[in-house]
Amino acid sequence: NKFNIALDGPAGAGKSTVARLVANELGFVYIDTGAMYRAVTWKVLELGILADQTAKVIETAKAMDIVLQPGPTGQQVLVDGEDVTDRIRSAAINANVSLIAQIAEVRELLVSKQKAMAASKGVVMDGRDIGTQVLPDAEVKIFLTASARERAERRYKEMDKPAITVEQLELEIARRDKLDSEREVSPLVQAQDAVLLDSSNIPLQDVVGKVLELCRA
Ligand code: C5P
Repeated sequence: NKFNIALDGPAGAGKSTVARLVANELGFVYIDTGAMYRAVTWKVLELGILADQTAKVIETAKAMDIVLQPGPTGQQVLVDGEDVTDRIRSAAINANVSLIAQIAEVRELLVSKQKAMAASKGVVMDGRDIGTQVLPDAEVKIFLTASARERAERRYKEMDKPAITVEQLELEIARRDKLDSEREVSPLVQAQDAVLLDSSNIPLQDVVGKVLELCRA
């Protein structure tokens, strides 16, 4: 008996870590939808297109092929057959991805792909609009949050050789949250039937435990 889990929340709340561990525990497939918005942003920047050249961005998104597949170190992202898993995490992508994610046609395209990926159930999908738009019928819905500072610190610790300070990171995260929460199409908002979990003062391992409890309830 397979079901779907929708995991939403702001940047750096621990969604990807929690989603991966829950998926491992249940033998489900983990799908990081942020990686798809990042992949479109990567291709757009690669082609020298600016985020506000909406028609060109849409054309690019429609023409490109995005594949998410399980790899040795987690989810691998392929764009037109090319492995861009690491490249979609750059500062340039961080700075532009929320602008690309505001475009309604880009969202429509990615949301329909995401719905198809979850059709056979047994997925843990993480993003911003999973519980509200992509999988409104998901059996389990979580909204994971944490204080902005905590989220910045978590992201900082994940970085290999941080080229910015925690303070700068906190500002960048706050800017992205603002764009994501205030955009017109599918803003970042907790689904009415989602369970709110705050990971500020608890280890992510405990969050995983709580999510698994909700799955068994
Ligand atoms: O999850 P991640 O931080 O990688 O997402 C990058 C960006 O992609 C978010 O800040 C947001 O602008 C966009 N996004 C979205 N909807 C999703 C997932 C990500 O708008 N379901």
